[in-house]
Amino acid sequence: MANQVQTKTATCPTHGEIEAMREMPKVSFPFIVYGIRRMIAARKPFRCPECGTAVDAS
Ligand SMILES: [Zn+2]
Repeated sequence: MANQVQTKTATCPTHGEIEAMREMPKVSFPFIVYGIRRMIAARKPFRCPECGTAVDAS
């Protein structure tokens, strides 16, 4: 299933300022399934696209 990629400016300890990325599910039905998938995705950290390190982008 296709996901949307969310990006956010963050700081990677190795690469400095980067566009951190996180996949979020697209809106789909049934809505309850989308809600659960989105909740799970929202708990995952943003990651540096270069090295995959979880970065603090909150
Ligand atoms: Zn990095």
